[in-house]
Amino acid sequence: MTVTVRFCGASRTVTGSCFLFSARGGSFLVDCGLFQGSKTLKALNYSNFPFRPSEIAAVLLTHAHIDHSGLIPKLVRGGFAGRVIATRPTIDLCSFMLPDAGSIQESEVVMLNRRNRARGRDEVTPIYTKADGVAALDAFRSIDYESWIDVIPGVRARFWDAGHLLGSASIEMEFDGEGASGGPLRVLASGDVGPDGKLFHAGPDAPADFDYVICESTYGDEDRPATTHEGRRQRLTAEVRDAQAANGALLIPAFAVERTQELIVDLVDLMESGRIPSAPIFLDSPLAIRATEVFRRYAAGMESEVDVARLLISPLLRCTETVDESKSIAKLSGFHIVIAASGMCDAGRIRHHLRNWLWRSQATVLLTGFQAQGTLGRFLADGAHAVRIQGDEIKVAARIRQLDEYSGHADGPELARWIAARRPVRRGVFLVHGEEEALTGLSERIAERSVPAAKVFVPVLDDIFDLSTAAPTPVDVAHRRRLAPEAVVALDWHNDMSKLVLDINARMDAAADDRARRVVIRRLRRALEEE
Ligand SMILES: [Zn+2]
Repeated sequence: MTVTVRFCGASRTVTGSCFLFSARGGSFLVDCGLFQGSKTLKALNYSNFPFRPSEIAAVLLTHAHIDHSGLIPKLVRGGFAGRVIATRPTIDLCSFMLPDAGSIQESEVVMLNRRNRARGRDEVTPIYTKADGVAALDAFRSIDYESWIDVIPGVRARFWDAGHLLGSASIEMEFDGEGASGGPLRVLASGDVGPDGKLFHAGPDAPADFDYVICESTYGDEDRPATTHEGRRQRLTAEVRDAQAANGALLIPAFAVERTQELIVDLVDLMESGRIPSAPIFLDSPLAIRATEVFRRYAAGMESEVDVARLLISPLLRCTETVDESKSIAKLSGFHIVIAASGMCDAGRIRHHLRNWLWRSQATVLLTGFQAQGTLGRFLADGAHAVRIQGDEIKVAARIRQLDEYSGHADGPELARWIAARRPVRRGVFLVHGEEEALTGLSERIAERSVPAAKVFVPVLDDIFDLSTAAPTPVDVAHRRRLAPEAVVALDWHNDMSKLVLDINARMDAAADDRARRVVIRRLRRALEEE
């Protein structure tokens, strides 16, 4: 057994991307991401890594998104002393995203401990702090696309533009002397793969002829209508006009990096050309403001139909950096646009704006990206009549709209084409970074058509495979799993509980009078006693 891979995250789920490769020359990671979504998954961020950080020689980082980079500060704090290899834009983005993630951990723990104290539970410490996020940056080393770098003795890697995010990469790896053809074992980790027709990028790029391809599957079960720049702007135009007609705030939960800048460029361009009414666009996210500065810096090198650098400094754009500036937006009425993080509404200033507007029918919430199971954004997308924000129940009267055209991810047919273009793939394709339906969808799409069905694998969290055998050989990991396989996939009971409470409240509200409400309570009590 000379080359193994362990799937330490993004396996049967989309977050926590982390693959541990071990070879004769040592061990290294591809990505070291934060788990997001259900409480069960998030708990993994607090527990030990399934490896010793001090034994990891290097991290190859595909891109800056927190579900790929967000546990690097924890890794460094835990004793990792190697290099984090990433493209220059990825490093620029991480330089504020990781400290910001540390601040979020610190404030989440303050809230958690307030609850823990009230319930007599032990206090917890943050996964890492803002200072850890800053300290981790010393480990980063930049690499250009398409140039080889030695990772550990006997292993080299090369980064290819994945077209997903500024600086994003698919990573080609070669392990000396372990391949099917007697040459090196060749492995490609897709990272996140971008769609065709994205505003700031050409399509994803990567070479062919591998022993193994590890491919993301986020939208593997979707077949979106082909998107063009103009098609995307038409959809946005319609959404903005409808929001203006409703005469309230248009809240856009923002993915701070890239999605936000794409939306700003299109909104400003549409306002300048008179296709949508001019209105202030509040960029209410310090993180998105920093990201916008990085995009301005790289704008000249982007392959885009519009003048990105100029549109990103429009006076229509109001950056609200401080908390006081942010609070002043809440006093506005009538039509205006607020872009605030986070994109799945599970943290950040968007939650204050949602609290302020969700119960009003004049408001519009425009979701512009993937909403993971268990997040507030997913509850809204699924049509919840009420949601809980910071302990309060808020009725949903606002118009909830979704715009998928800005996705940073390839859809099912695009992923299948990307995999087909990597052929021959001699030993196997591992599908990762997707929820169950997406994995099944992509698996069905590629099986037999692109690769033999017997060569498609969908690993479970903590699975280990020997890659140096003729076919991937599973290593027995039963006693080393952090979670039962089914716990990764299922919504945990916390989500079921919140839904139950909301359903009970809805039933009480809908009851004709207090007598009817007492009947509901009596029935619930009887059900409890039967247990
Ligand atoms: Zn990503």
